[in-house]
Amino acid sequence: DESLLIHSASHSYPVWIEDGIRHHTAELVRKAVPDYTKVFIIADENVGKLYIEDILSSFPAESRPDYTLLPAGEMSKSFAEYERLITECLQQGLDRKSVILAFGGGVTGDIAGFTAATYMRGIPFIQIPTTLLAHDSSVGGKTGINHPGAKNMVGAFHPPHGVIYDPEMLRTLPPEEWRSGYAEVVKHALISDKPFLNWLMENVQDLSLLQGERLKELLKKSIQVKADVVQKDERESGIRAYLNFGHTLGHALESYAGYGKLTHGEAVASGMIFAVRLSRAELNAALPENELRKYLASLGYRLDLEKEAEAVKLIQLMKKDKKTAGGRINFVLLEEVGRPVLKRAAEETLLHLLENEVA
Ligand code: NAD
Ligand code: ZN
Repeated sequence: DESLLIHSASHSYPVWIEDGIRHHTAELVRKAVPDYTKVFIIADENVGKLYIEDILSSFPAESRPDYTLLPAGEMSKSFAEYERLITECLQQGLDRKSVILAFGGGVTGDIAGFTAATYMRGIPFIQIPTTLLAHDSSVGGKTGINHPGAKNMVGAFHPPHGVIYDPEMLRTLPPEEWRSGYAEVVKHALISDKPFLNWLMENVQDLSLLQGERLKELLKKSIQVKADVVQKDERESGIRAYLNFGHTLGHALESYAGYGKLTHGEAVASGMIFAVRLSRAELNAALPENELRKYLASLGYRLDLEKEAEAVKLIQLMKKDKKTAGGRINFVLLEEVGRPVLKRAAEETLLHLLENEVA
């Protein structure tokens, strides 16, 4: 039984990563929460269509859990959907020892996790991530939904009791979703580990070919980076902010374009290149900007998206970001690959870099 063990303030939980492991869901759920009374599955509708039978049939016929489908997309992280899920939990008769399975990508994990965090003041839940991005969202304990006026504004810390990650299911993921998730993998490498970054650039040159051992190694490594950061700082005061690398501009680009127009990862890719440029300008950091730029472009990312936007508006949006305390724009910069620092950026510098052509 090869798994990572992640430590949160309240408990530790295993992350199992293995092709085909979805067929063993029942036994893993029992391992993660030995004394559970009942299981209820909240599944993304696309994922449900493809894989729900595999999950259900891992349980004995007489104890197959019930499930509900969540419409695909960010719109589902809503108050209305949240209320519906709580109602489902009530109708299912879930009690404090029941387990919710979050079966899907980050959207499902976030709202199913929030449902588990708040139903009866918190019941256990288990993540069964099905996107590449969800390697990031399924560990760390953040759950939540959107307010119509602000993304992820309502939420709770509620770490899962286990993560069952079957990379085989990623094969049906559309190419843009691969790219969206892979940006976070590159981010994890950039903030933690130069050898990992080099390994990625050498071994991952076509996302559509990423599978088997290599995919498994990559997931393990990237999850470990996130877990290390989060374990050191569960409630986001200091170093957890490093996970925001590339996201200050990334979020602004997403909201400038209008949510849903860009994938998160595509916005983050441009944000990371920008943060690298800013690191060079502010810290004189020696960073492999051109290599990184070429690498991301070769994988199909559109870069320098800020050039298509109004710089002043992007700066306004960055100031509004809930992570920019007190109207100051704090950036995660790199002294070198693997050495992030938090630094307040001067507005003139930002404006200059946003408006000027790439050197
Ligand atoms: P998602 O959950 O919307 O999934 C993307 C799309 O892929 C959906 O249309 C879904 O139906 C489809 N899909 C999922 N798995 C599939 C599969 N195996 N085969 C075919 N289609 C599949 O998006 P996401 O990128 O996984 O997650 C984004 C969300 O994650 C955002 O809401 C973001 O706020 C959140 N997030 C949370 C954290 C956290 O720490 N909690 C971190 C990062 C992101
Ligand atoms: Zn992100």
